[in-house]
Amino acid sequence: MNCKDRPYRSLSTGSWFKLIGGASFQDLPALHNLALVYTLAGADCVDVCADPAVIVQVAEAIRLARGMASAEKSTPGAPLLMVSLNDGADPHFRKAQFPSFLCPSECIRPCLQICPVDAITSEGVIAERCYGCGRCAPVCPIGLITMRPWEQSVQDIGTMLAAHPVDALEIHTHSGNWAGFQRLWAGLAQILPGLKLVAVSFPNEPGIREHIEQVCTLILASALSEEVKRNLVWQVDGLPMSGDLARGTARTAVQFAAHVQGWKLPGHLQLAGGTNDTSVALAASEGVHIAGVGYGSYARRLVRTEIDGGPLEKHPALLSQAVRRAQALVRQLKPDIAQEGITPWLKLPS
Ligand code: SF4
Ligand code: SF4
Repeated sequence: MNCKDRPYRSLSTGSWFKLIGGASFQDLPALHNLALVYTLAGADCVDVCADPAVIVQVAEAIRLARGMASAEKSTPGAPLLMVSLNDGADPHFRKAQFPSFLCPSECIRPCLQICPVDAITSEGVIAERCYGCGRCAPVCPIGLITMRPWEQSVQDIGTMLAAHPVDALEIHTHSGNWAGFQRLWAGLAQILPGLKLVAVSFPNEPGIREHIEQVCTLILASALSEEVKRNLVWQVDGLPMSGDLARGTARTAVQFAAHVQGWKLPGHLQLAGGTNDTSVALAASEGVHIAGVGYGSYARRLVRTEIDGGPLEKHPALLSQAVRRAQALVRQLKPDIAQEGITPWLKLPS
């Protein structure tokens, strides 16, 4: 991949769109549909959890979408397939749990109603669906819901990624996790030369600047290609997994990005955490120069009714509807997307 290829071009022109599938979201049918829809809508990157079954499923959905487009001579280019990893405790890598036999029969089940991905049933939490947003825990009147970490060992991750290659990695890190970051980075040594992109995601917390500068030095000294080092992505994580809660959540990420801009990190700044349809305009109005935006819960909610059915390739009308909704979001970063011929085959209803 060189600087003229679409993902790098998008980063350098500020039109990078990343779909965040969820660092611990393992619902294969939903991920298949999400990847299909957002690939067709023009995403540059699909970021999913480091689970071999998820990698295989999403790679297949991307291939399928590319096949649909090329069948009609459309050439959208494939998004990068990225997996998210963590170097220590992180809210993106956890699952809810509760012993359902202790639920009082008179409970009106607020947990079930608040879950944005229908991961809770009367039997408990469907672990594959839960992406750790944490919304269910505070609404339980008897405090029955707890969060457990969802982690893999560094050795397992290195072995798994060698067997299931991906285009890109994102590492979620925190200040205080320097030893964990070094350990993880060392465990990835084997796959670094083959990567097309590396991103680092971090929240606004005390000591984060010093930590990120250390991380940056280590990454720049590694075996990554020079192109990848020039295109490092720094994901500023505003309010994790909150983009579908309220419009105001986008402001936190933009304010944090404005701050990080002053650190002069090499590469590109990307928003995430609370992003929604106000993020792009907000960044522009605040004078924050971003390379793009990662959308998670907001992107998922936009197409929620369509993705929870069967494989969308078997339901052209629903697929078409979902792509059109997704494109409305993608177009905020890529206003010329309709002219790029991303989905002429879909014959979208007007
Ligand atoms: S509300 Fe969030 S944390 Fe709770 S089960 Fe649903 S996805 Fe998991
Ligand atoms: S809110 Fe708490 S008590 Fe009620 S069903 Fe959910 S987990 Fe059980």
